[in-house]
Amino acid sequence: MRDNFAKILVSILIAVSALALGFFTISLLQHKKVVVPAPVVVEQKQNPERKIIGYSVEKRTIEAYVYNGGGLASAMKKILFVGGIHGGYEWNSVVLAYDLMDYLRANPDVIPANLEVTVIPNANPDGVFKIIGKEGRFNLTDVPAIGDQSPGRFNAHNVDLNRNFDCNWSVKGMWQGKSVGTGTAAFSEPESQALRDYILANKPDVAVFYHSAANAVYGSQCKNGILPETTKVLNVYAKAAGYKAVPVFDAYKVNGASEDWLASQNIPAITVELASHKTVEWEKNLLGIRALLEFYK
Ligand SMILES: [Zn+2]
Repeated sequence: MRDNFAKILVSILIAVSALALGFFTISLLQHKKVVVPAPVVVEQKQNPERKIIGYSVEKRTIEAYVYNGGGLASAMKKILFVGGIHGGYEWNSVVLAYDLMDYLRANPDVIPANLEVTVIPNANPDGVFKIIGKEGRFNLTDVPAIGDQSPGRFNAHNVDLNRNFDCNWSVKGMWQGKSVGTGTAAFSEPESQALRDYILANKPDVAVFYHSAANAVYGSQCKNGILPETTKVLNVYAKAAGYKAVPVFDAYKVNGASEDWLASQNIPAITVELASHKTVEWEKNLLGIRALLEFYK
């Protein structure tokens, strides 16, 4: 009886030890698993890469789409296109930027290896919403055929964003013969802050801003006159696209314009003004864009 009891006890001890050893081994293996390096996953960069660069007063997203030519990052030249800073009043500048995005997506080979192209299609989404009544991408059929579209020029604080940048900023802003809101200070508005921050962080080599409807291409300058490269780019784009080239906007005095602030940052910037508030002029502008890609190749 006692012998039997001892045998059972020994068996139990053996079983428990075996179990403990098993658990120890499993936990050791599991521990080992953690230290085994995971297979390296090369993350394929999306082309285009979509970035949210900020939010409007009414919290709509301001987006940038980055198309990469695929060359070495250190040798990259950067071109920035911006539509819609004057919102729904100049909705055609947003449609033109959408057309450019579609074109770059369908024809990625037109971007030379050394170029990175960024499109910010809608720099004033609240102003666009005021007229189009739609969030995000819209079509020509969404554009109302009648009605005064000038309120769509401003952001939700009733500020003209192209009078809110830090180059000769003034509390008094002019648009044609009218007085317009310029904000409480330079860069008081979230939309202009988003553009400023994106530009300072990414340092484009050149920037093109789309507007309507002065039917010409303009250069930019802040306190030190027009940059020599701005003059070159202005002529390249205007000649290819068939617009008149005008070194400096001189129809009336403009304070706090985005393009002029870029000049103060030593970044060449041009303004392309479409011929009307209703035409998109894609074919002409494609020629200008392709000439610019060629210029920076
Ligand atoms: Zn404009």
